[in-house]
Amino acid sequence: GGPALDAVEAAVRALEDHPRFNAGRGSVLTSDGTVEMDASIMDGHRLECGAVGAVPRVANPIALARRVLEDGRHVLLVGEGALGFARAIGMSDCPPEALLSDRQRRRWEAGARRAVEAEAEGTVGAVALDRRGTVAAATSTGGVWAKRPGRVGDSALIGCGTYANSSLGAVSCTGDGEAIIRVVLARRTLDYLKDAGDPRYAAQVAMELLGE
Ligand code: ASP
Repeated sequence: GGPALDAVEAAVRALEDHPRFNAGRGSVLTSDGTVEMDASIMDGHRLECGAVGAVPRVANPIALARRVLEDGRHVLLVGEGALGFARAIGMSDCPPEALLSDRQRRRWEAGARRAVEAEAEGTVGAVALDRRGTVAAATSTGGVWAKRPGRVGDSALIGCGTYANSSLGAVSCTGDGEAIIRVVLARRTLDYLKDAGDPRYAAQVAMELLGE
């Protein structure tokens, strides 16, 4: 009975809190050994959206993206500016070591040769449809292993990693962010859904586009 937006935020928060996933606690590390996270959330009713990119020291980036949405002035805040917004709205800093899971620390210590294996693993996302017919989508990630500090991927970009429009559907992506950005994958997938009316088919065509 609740709003789709609340459902996707709650689902993604739970996954961010779980150290198994590459989002929030458990995020992969940058080449400097730091954690910088991307997240975005969108409500398909009025196309309201919020996102954060390369944000450090935040326990739940999706909750911060939601607050960007609610604030309504901007869509995307990055880095120290996003952290400054978090502090301004009363979110307390998360110590960097609290974001670092044992698994990611061991991987970091094992060195860059593990990079390929670690890539594209465990980004989290959710989509939901509520009783009012509103759809919502949310995505959260630590990004790709050993990324350059300051790199922002598709998960922070509306239309690329996340999109929702109640007259079309909702999409959350995972995979190679640089490729996903190049084809604006989430929004394009909804075009396929509009044409075919079948989510499975739309996802399949979108994957073919990505491959191409
Ligand atoms: N799409 C994410 C990124 O490029 C990574 C992933 O989905 O695994 O940041």
